[in-house]
Amino acid sequence: MAPGASLMTVRGPVAASSLGIILPHEHLFSMFGEEPAELHQYDRQLLLATVVPYLENLRAQGCTAIIDGTTAWFGRQPALLRDISARTGIHILTNTGYYGAANDRYVPKSALEESADQIAARWLAEWTDGIGGTGIKPGFLKLGVDAGPLSGIDRKLITAAARTHRKSGLTLAVHTGDNPAALHEQLTVLRAEGVAPGALVWIHANQCPDDAAVLGAAAAGAWISLDGLAADTLNRHLALCRALKSAGRLRQVLLSHDGNTFRANGKRPMKTYAALFTDFIPRLTAAGFDQAEIRSLTAHNPALAYAVGVRLLPQ
Ligand SMILES: [Zn+2]
Repeated sequence: MAPGASLMTVRGPVAASSLGIILPHEHLFSMFGEEPAELHQYDRQLLLATVVPYLENLRAQGCTAIIDGTTAWFGRQPALLRDISARTGIHILTNTGYYGAANDRYVPKSALEESADQIAARWLAEWTDGIGGTGIKPGFLKLGVDAGPLSGIDRKLITAAARTHRKSGLTLAVHTGDNPAALHEQLTVLRAEGVAPGALVWIHANQCPDDAAVLGAAAAGAWISLDGLAADTLNRHLALCRALKSAGRLRQVLLSHDGNTFRANGKRPMKTYAALFTDFIPRLTAAGFDQAEIRSLTAHNPALAYAVGVRLLPQ
């Protein structure tokens, strides 16, 4: 790890070397599926009563940090994350950016009119001044793309994110799922903006059934987020870890659950995110992954992927 590398958490910068196991793609709470709003109202008491004990339990199992993928317009609330982080001792990263998947439902109208530079300026203002008067800085850029080739708005948002990266060093985490063609289009946009593939995380790469496409994206230099860990996905996750290890790409792999502790104000059931600890690490060990490899997958890789740092193509 680069000496001095740090992650920007909701309570300020934290040295990457000080962190143990990190869950790089979860949601502490969200209003996904509900009407978009700039700031959603949560049942705060119920939320804290649900989320805090869950995180305390994760911490007891060795979790040191969680990267929260809930974006503006479907429930991001940095101050609430900061409160939870202080109560549980778990480090938390929130994000800037707009979620362009779900048919652009959660993209604000302003972004349809604005240029990529204008959108980047909004995101950079969150980076320099903090989000919505809280003083809390985003730790990464969260984006999303729809199925098929990149749409005009999705391309504009990726362009804005690449430009934001150049000035902030924030990593791009893009909900892409089973759309390797769009992943390659994103890499093309990044290249045109002079940004290296190592600034990009392919979120939900585990949904892509085409191993060659996953290995190809890793060979191109992108981070591979296998984030749907659950009891019924363990075999597929293990097969992908094995394939990436054989290809010499284990150091680009991230493991998480895409869980969610408090959905739609408690109206939807929790999606748990402990299978890494209870099932998958034992599964990796049984499959012959050694301690150093497991540490790389669960701690070192996510720290490196989300450490703040400008990653440019060589001139
Ligand atoms: Zn997610």
